[in-house]
Amino acid sequence: MLYVVATPIGNLKDITLRALETLKEVDFILCEDTRTSGNLLRNYEIKKELISFNARMEEKKIDAVITRLKLGYTCALISDAGTPAISDPGIRLVNAAQKNGIDVVGIPGANAAILALSIAGLPTDSFVFEGFLPQKKGRQKQLKILVEEERTIILYESMYRIEKLINELNEYMPNRIIAIGRELTKKFEELWRGKPNEILETLNEHTLKGEFVVIIAPKNWI
Ligand code: SAM
Repeated sequence: MLYVVATPIGNLKDITLRALETLKEVDFILCEDTRTSGNLLRNYEIKKELISFNARMEEKKIDAVITRLKLGYTCALISDAGTPAISDPGIRLVNAAQKNGIDVVGIPGANAAILALSIAGLPTDSFVFEGFLPQKKGRQKQLKILVEEERTIILYESMYRIEKLINELNEYMPNRIIAIGRELTKKFEELWRGKPNEILETLNEHTLKGEFVVIIAPKNWI
């Protein structure tokens, strides 16, 4: 059995009872960074074999994990934050488990994209999750495609490129309402909304450090 377990995206209390139960019961845990996940487990007094399973080594480790799962061991896949396999490693392992007839069970919980969408007040009936835009090559092309998007768009962005992204949105889609969620669930969490030029005008009132989700209203939404 492979459990795909969501963990908090900032506030350590955002973990479900079922996630804690699962982490206590499995034979071993795959995680991105053993230090980050070690802190989480220590906080809940869970002692368990932690195996690092990050994007660089995912491919190499899949066969060994599948072998153990086939022998009847149980495993939980977690990431540094939020739901594994969503802009995080894991989907190739899940695919391999599905192909090998291993039961895959999801333990739902925090996800930055859905959390930001649920508080942005922009349409939620139909949306598209784009994750991170390419950093360089292909970025402009992707932005041009998004200009025509008629669904709400969800983007992840790092603090190193958030100002650049807002400037790009001002250039490509100046009339769209955007919502910026920063450090959600954490002590200094905030969400602010406006047209890109309004956001740029008030940029100095906000801190551009931490983690960001950007929600963009659909084309022609008033
Ligand atoms: N798997 C995670 C999830 O379920 O949300 C996402 C992992 S992805 C590598 C990390 C990105 O998610 C960050 O760069 C940021 O864009 C977004 N993110 C994660 N935690 C966040 C938070 N507390 N507030 C705002 N954005 C967050």
